[in-house]
Amino acid sequence: MRHFAIVGSGPAGFYTAEALEKAYGEAARIDILDRYPVPYGLIRFGVAPDHQSLKAVSKRYDKTAESAGVDFIGNVTIGRDVSIAELRDLYDAVILATGAPHDRKLGIPGEELPGVIGSAEFVGWYNGHPEFTDLDPFLAGSHAVVVGNGNVALDCARILSKTRHEFEGSDIVGHALEALDASATRTITILGRRGPHQIAMTPKELGELGHLEAAVPVIDGADFPPVEADESLEPGLRKSVTLLRGFADLPQDKPKRMVFDFFAKPLRVEGEGRVERVIVERTELDEKGAARGTGHTYEVPASLVITAIGYSTSPIPDVPFDGGKFVNDAGRIADRLYAVGWARRGPTGTIGTNRPDGYEIAEQIAAAMPAGSSSEREGATGLKRLLESRGVMPTDYDDWRKIEETEVSRARPGSPREKFVRHRDWLQVLGR
Ligand SMILES: Cc1cc2nc3c(=O)[nH]c(=O)nc-3n(C[C@H](O)[C@H](O)[C@H](O)COP(=O)(O)OP(=O)(O)OC[C@H]3O[C@@H](n4cnc5c(N)ncnc54)[C@H](O)[C@@H]3O)c2cc1C
Repeated sequence: MRHFAIVGSGPAGFYTAEALEKAYGEAARIDILDRYPVPYGLIRFGVAPDHQSLKAVSKRYDKTAESAGVDFIGNVTIGRDVSIAELRDLYDAVILATGAPHDRKLGIPGEELPGVIGSAEFVGWYNGHPEFTDLDPFLAGSHAVVVGNGNVALDCARILSKTRHEFEGSDIVGHALEALDASATRTITILGRRGPHQIAMTPKELGELGHLEAAVPVIDGADFPPVEADESLEPGLRKSVTLLRGFADLPQDKPKRMVFDFFAKPLRVEGEGRVERVIVERTELDEKGAARGTGHTYEVPASLVITAIGYSTSPIPDVPFDGGKFVNDAGRIADRLYAVGWARRGPTGTIGTNRPDGYEIAEQIAAAMPAGSSSEREGATGLKRLLESRGVMPTDYDDWRKIEETEVSRARPGSPREKFVRHRDWLQVLGR
């Protein structure tokens, strides 16, 4: 028998479990650990609540969690409750699938002013992440700025723009729905340091903006190169740029505006006691395609600023870390210690990009410890003994189902799905 510990129950963790299960069948026990009592990482706390079809990928992970050789062990933080050295003693291999939960900083003056928040916080707030329940983003002003030109920036802008009616069938949490419904925000400026050809926005996400009930995207045709230049773009990006160009033809007849401000580099955030404006420098592309300041500056009014410029992994004691992710060679960190997903590659790619990662690591492990080989390591038995001695109360997959069912039954028919937003709510459902 072999024992494997996967730290993190997001997509990367689940794809790795799926791959190990296929490789070993009954010859291995696979434990998926998570610091939260509930699984699925960014599928639960990141992916937008109005994108239910994407969140449905968790059904596939359910299947893995229900297989005989796989267990979910929640409410355990590795690096705090249990060390990496202890896990490596207990398990034949440890795979870190801890994602990249921290917002990258802009690194400009004024960034610490109240009213400037990171997208991880904002996204966590509307998705019921227990750490961001009390975020209370400032929505009483008319102008918001979202910094970044990727899909997360689009998620933030879209959520700020949607009507209550448009959230029907979503699983946005009640506190966010009420706050967004009462929001006074009318202009959302999306700042990108480079131009339309450099965006990291995908066609599906961009396309949605053209069909919103109360908001319309706004572009400046002068930011675009001649249309022939689009021919050299790869097909996905070309489609996105075509969609962007098409926004110019939309009637500007809705109360909310989403203004795409390209070639715009934030220099500093200003305001008396809280954010009031962002000072931006106009840029142009240099020979290498990087943004170069032109010296021309202007201000963009902002009562709320959301930065969506990337994420970094949380370091774990005794694991080599490069400031953004774990140091690894094709996923291998050290003997019997691996990384997958965002903890391995940094915060890029879609949910599906994490799948080959998981399969590759399972192959590496199976090559080093062929199915049928065994060791004396204790796996979950030893881990649970250790946790009990430290007063840590893990949750299992049945606990998660109970939490999930209670959440679903609490939601009113047709209304956004209600979620528990605090640890103590979860533990209450479990009678602890
Ligand atoms: C806002 C946002 C929206 C997105 N929307 C989409 C989308 O629409 N479509 C799409 O394809 N992709 C989307 N993505 C990308 C997708 O979510 C990621 O590719 C994917 O979640 C990365 O998987 P992961 O398993 O590496 O990390 P995560 O999903 O972050 O999972 C990491 C897990 O590790 C746990 N963990 C962390 N540290 C510890 C520790 N010390 N001990 C125990 N557990 C720990 C965390 O609690 C978490 O459950 C989005 C990403 C973001 C940020």
